[in-house]
Parts: sequence; C-alpha cells; structure tokens
Amino acid sequence: MTGRIIGNYRITRQLGAGGMGAVFEAVDTMVDRRVAIKMLHNEIASRPDLIERFRVEAATLAKLNHPCTATLYSFFRDGENYYMVMEFVPGRTLDQILRASGRLPVATARSILRQVLEGVAHAHSMGVLHRDIKPANIMISDDGHVKVTDFGIARVLGSARLTRVGSVIGTLEYLAPERIRFEEADHRSDLYSTGVVLFEALTGRAPFLGGSDRETLKAHLELPPPSLRELGVDCAPELENLLRRALAKRPDDRFQSAEEFRQALIAVPVAAPGPPPPPTAGTAPPVSAVAKPPRQSQLMLVAGVLTIAVMAAASGVWILQHRAQPPAERPVEVVHNQTPPPETPAPALPSTFPGTFLQPPEDAPVPAVTQPAPVPPAQPAAPVRQNFTPEPRKPQAAPPAATAAPEPKLPEPPPDRPRAVAPPPVESPAPAAAAPARPTVRALRDVHTIFVEKMDNDLDVFLKLEIAEQLAGYLSVVQHKEEADAILSGRSEDTATTGSKVTGGYLGIKDQARGTVTLRDRAGHLDLWSGEAGDKSLIIGAVKRGGSRKVAERLVGSLKKVIRSTR
Ligand code: ADP
Ligand code: MG
Repeated sequence: MTGRIIGNYRITRQLGAGGMGAVFEAVDTMVDRRVAIKMLHNEIASRPDLIERFRVEAATLAKLNHPCTATLYSFFRDGENYYMVMEFVPGRTLDQILRASGRLPVATARSILRQVLEGVAHAHSMGVLHRDIKPANIMISDDGHVKVTDFGIARVLGSARLTRVGSVIGTLEYLAPERIRFEEADHRSDLYSTGVVLFEALTGRAPFLGGSDRETLKAHLELPPPSLRELGVDCAPELENLLRRALAKRPDDRFQSAEEFRQALIAVPVAAPGPPPPPTAGTAPPVSAVAKPPRQSQLMLVAGVLTIAVMAAASGVWILQHRAQPPAERPVEVVHNQTPPPETPAPALPSTFPGTFLQPPEDAPVPAVTQPAPVPPAQPAAPVRQNFTPEPRKPQAAPPAATAAPEPKLPEPPPDRPRAVAPPPVESPAPAAAAPARPTVRALRDVHTIFVEKMDNDLDVFLKLEIAEQLAGYLSVVQHKEEADAILSGRSEDTATTGSKVTGGYLGIKDQARGTVTLRDRAGHLDLWSGEAGDKSLIIGAVKRGGSRKVAERLVGSLKKVIRSTR
C-alpha cells in the first residue's frame, strides 16, 4: 500500500491493524496534513447495513472536536473499499505502554486518566457514548497529549469486527456489570470502563480477572476490586475510595458524570500518607493466580507451555494458542496535561520519564529511548503481559459484545422502552414502545427478537453476548419473554478435570464443556432450530479460555449460518 494514492491521500506507511482493518499513515495532499486512514476490511465493506450505519454514525462522530479525542475527518469509498480518515496521533497506545512497563506511577496514571475523562466528557456532552474504552483505544502522543480514539465505533461494528479475528468476544475486562447483564447501559458504563483502565494503569492488571471467562464476568458482577495498597501501590486512601466508587456495581453508586469523576481524580493526593504495606498475595485478588508475583506467573506460563508441548507430542492433543513475548517497546516520553484546568492543583509532573521510571519488569528488555517506534506486527499472536497477570490479552480484541446495544443517547431513554440488546436492523422497524403484539412466528426467518432462558454454567450469559456480537442486525436479545418472537433454552454441562493433573493443581488439566440448545416459538409449540456444541480446553497456568464461552461461540456461529441463509 505504501506510496499508493487513494483519493486525496498518499499512503506513507502501515501503522497497524485492528479489528476493523489495516491502519495507515497518510498525507492529505490537498491540505498537506498527516492523517491516519483505516481501510475497512471486506467483511464490513461488503455489508451494506454496516456501511449505512457507519455513514450515519460518522456524521455524529465528526462533530467531536476536543484536544483529548481523535477527530474523525472523513468517511469515503474508493472502488470496493471504504476508508475512515482520522486525526493522526504520533505516539503509542496506553496498551502498548502498559505491556512494556507494567504499571505507571500514580501521578502519571492520574494525568493520563484525567485527560481521558476530559475527552469522554466532551463526547458525552454531544450524546456520544464510547462503548469500548480500553487501553488500546487511548493514545499517548509523543509530545505527551492523550487522545481517546474510536468513539462510537463499537456500536457501528456490532458483529462484523469479530468474525475476522476468529469469532471471539472482545476482552471482558472492561465490560460494565449492566452490560454483562444486558440491562440498559448509559454513559456511566463508559465511566466504569474508564475506572478499569485507571486501576490497570496503577497496578498493571485489570481489577476483575478470573481463571476463566466465566469467573471474570462473575468478578465484575459480584466481587469488590482488590485493594491498591495490597497490590503494592503506594497511594493515598482517597484513591482507593475513588476507585471503589468508579467501579461500583450499580451505575447509581458511581460517578454520575465524567466531569465529576475527573474532579474527584484531581483532588486525590498523589503521595501516600505513610510507607505502603507490602503486597499481601492471597488476600487481595479474588483469583489467587492473578496475585502471584510476575516472575512466578511467568515461570508458571513457561512450565505450562513446556508441559503442554510434551503432552501434545505424546498424544497429539490440540494445544491452545500460546504466543510469544511482546516486541520491545519504546518508552513513553512525555505525559503531561495538555490543557490544565485552572482549578487543578496539578503536581509538577516530569515532562519526560525514562523507561526505568516506569518500573519495567525485572527481566524485560529495557525499552530503547530512541525513535521511531516499531509498529507492532499487524496480526501478532497474543502477547503475554509481563506483569501481574498471567492472562494473555488479545491484541485484536473485538468490542465487548454488549456494545452492540442501541445507543442510549443522553439524556436517557424512557424507562419503559423494550431493552433490545442488539441494534435493530437498519431495515427493520424499531421495537414498539409498550407490550407489542408480536406477529406469529412460522419459521426461523420470522424471528427478530429472542429471549434466552437461564442456563447452567452461565451459558446463557455467553449466548447473549455472542448473539449481540455475531447476529447484530438479525436478532435482538430482549429482557422479557413477552417481547420475544422465540425462546432459546438449553442445557450445559461442564465436566471439569477429565484429564490428568500434571503439576500441582494448575497445569495441563483438560476441561470439557457441552451445550445443547433449542429455539422455540414463544408458545413453545414449534421447534425452530436446535444446536449442540462442545469444547475441550487445556488449562495453561490458572488461565482457562473456552468452556461456556467457546460453546456459546460455536452454537451462535451455527445459528448465524442458518439465519443468514434465510434472510
Ligand atoms: P483496535 O481494533 O485494536 O482498536 P485500531 O484499528 O483502532 O485497532 O488501531 C490499530 C493500531 O493502529 C493501533 O494500535 C495504533 O497503533 C494505530 N492507530 C490507530 N488509530 C491511530 C491514529 N489515529 N493515529 C495513529 N495511530 C493509530
Ligand atoms: Mg482502536
């Protein structure tokens, strides 16, 4: 692509690749301005409904104009391809910085997050929710400014983003409890995700992690965030309190606006009153493995990989994808507030901080201080975060499934509105306001809304997330049976530990999950579809991917094939 001219733009180099497609640096030759261009991949470009949604959404997104948000300049078509043109941010994502550095000093994390909140406040004031706030969507420019990217994109993309990356729901770490429950989500869900990012910036790990996806969801729903001080963060108690509020389970208990959150953040003293207590592994995090010191986690992972390699050689067992270390990274050079508000008692932040200040992991290569930044490979294998959490993160994560929910523009919609969780198909009528008399369903093709019954092992939760991801535009999950054309019910089995324990209780345990589901019309007379799927996974360390999530992904994948052929 390099050197190619597309419209007014000359491509200069590839920056990376995300869920939507490849990202290039280019020059707008008309006005001689550097821009970032995303070329939407085929799966999106070939879906007229998505392109239309993009077009509609682009008009709103282009109105965002704030130093802390990356502006959308244009959305255009050239031949078969569609392109989004955005403000170019020379720098790195917070995700890249955290991967290289583990955790940030309190003052730095605070400075970054307050700028994030400024950008988020601006978008919220324009009625735009982000829906996918995570470190990969926060860019720190080389001159120290923070810009939030990809506002509103998650909603537009719905299902399309994930199929290309192997049909996985995006990272669950940033998903607010109400999104997991498929309840009405609003701007406070963005604030929760921002709270997760703040926690991660301070500690190097997300607050809610589990040995499996199910446990991660449960931690979001049920567990308090671990204590910062118990994770060894030297901070004032006010910061603990702030995070407890930001990460409250109920939206009403959180900060009610980005500005309120920001004010509270800047009021927190940076320094702790006394020496920090030593980290007390075992008490703080809900999942013991997560609290293990980094080196031990790494050793466990290495041991896990070796063990599994041996097992694979011996029995031909399929091995979970386990990937290489991340590439060495450049340190972030500058983090300071671009537009310090007058009321801020801002501490004097260093205008630069070298890699050592960022506490790189013991045996990680110390990041070079020189430019330019190596662009991470376009489709890298999932790198292992080196600090604090053994959970490998997916760099190309799809958006959280529930982000496909209808945009609850601010102010909030009336409370009696039916809670469809996926955006209604562009071409189909919007859900009626109150207890609509649903037309009779004769075949799968008549089904537009679906109610998912409670199932064991949280299979229902994952099915709902998958339906929102994979079937956005075709099917909406509703909260009440009366609003549903069809009911999905089923059974789930989770027959853990059928394999042999290899080392302690952690490594090489085989795990088997199985789900059988049936879709019937609301009255239960008509079988519309049924499916069965299973999953075997090997547990690496204490990390388990698969189980109900994988089963749900497969079941909804086969439902998708049938549904798409009927419409
Ligand atoms: P994701 O799906 O992970 O959010 P994106 O498509 O947004 O991926 O971006 C992929 C990569 O391209 C990012 O990690 C970043 O390095 C780079 N990038 C994205 N947007 C910009 C931008 N506006 N300016 C500079 N680089 C960008
Ligand atoms: Mg992005």
